Amino acid sequence: AGVSRSVAVVTAYLMKTEGLSWEEAYAAVRAAKPDAEMNPGFQAQLKLYEAMGCTVDVSSPLYKQYRLQVLTECYSELQDLPQEVFAADPTSTCQTPDTEILYRCRKCRRALFRSSSILSHTEGSGPTAFAHKRITGSAQLRGGGRETCTSYFTEPVQWMEPALLGVLEGQLLCPKCASKLGSFSWRGERCSCGRWVTPAFQIHKSRVDEARTLPLGNIQAAKT
Ligand SMILES: [Zn+2]
Ligand SMILES: [Zn+2]
Repeated sequence: AGVSRSVAVVTAYLMKTEGLSWEEAYAAVRAAKPDAEMNPGFQAQLKLYEAMGCTVDVSSPLYKQYRLQVLTECYSELQDLPQEVFAADPTSTCQTPDTEILYRCRKCRRALFRSSSILSHTEGSGPTAFAHKRITGSAQLRGGGRETCTSYFTEPVQWMEPALLGVLEGQLLCPKCASKLGSFSWRGERCSCGRWVTPAFQIHKSRVDEARTLPLGNIQAAKT
């Protein structure tokens, strides 16, 4: 493992300093040191590193989705999930930054998640895509993909925890009014656009409303 790790570190260094793709960098390392090897876990991490532009941005949707995938593999029982997996419940923290959109239950207005929890995906491409052949051929058009996703895929939020533990899939219900919001599956679900997301926590767009955060002084006015 020590060898694999040092190979990965050198490969990552070459990617960053020389602007190489992870494959080019790995090939360069192996050319210099033919017995250099890297396990598939490190290879996956370097692919992610490349996709993030050779920076590690822990708020990136790519990073969050990758972390969830690793977690799913490690916690086969799905009990006692580490708390940092869950995004804070928007009702437990008083302020949402101006840059974020808050999503509320359409029925009872309970705050459910913030825009930073959305793990967006592009249609039919990327590391976790299962080519859905009828769609991927023609639907690569940029920008046209937005309308075809009928759900938001999010990271798990604190209020989902009781529903998620110990089961592989199920429904996501509003924690306040219990109306159905969407579903989850640790094994993954297919978005309406054809893209597989693993694991998947999806909230139907029709069940929530966007609430842009207002400057502090306007909050009281907006409530009345
Ligand atoms: Zn989609
Ligand atoms: Zn509700």
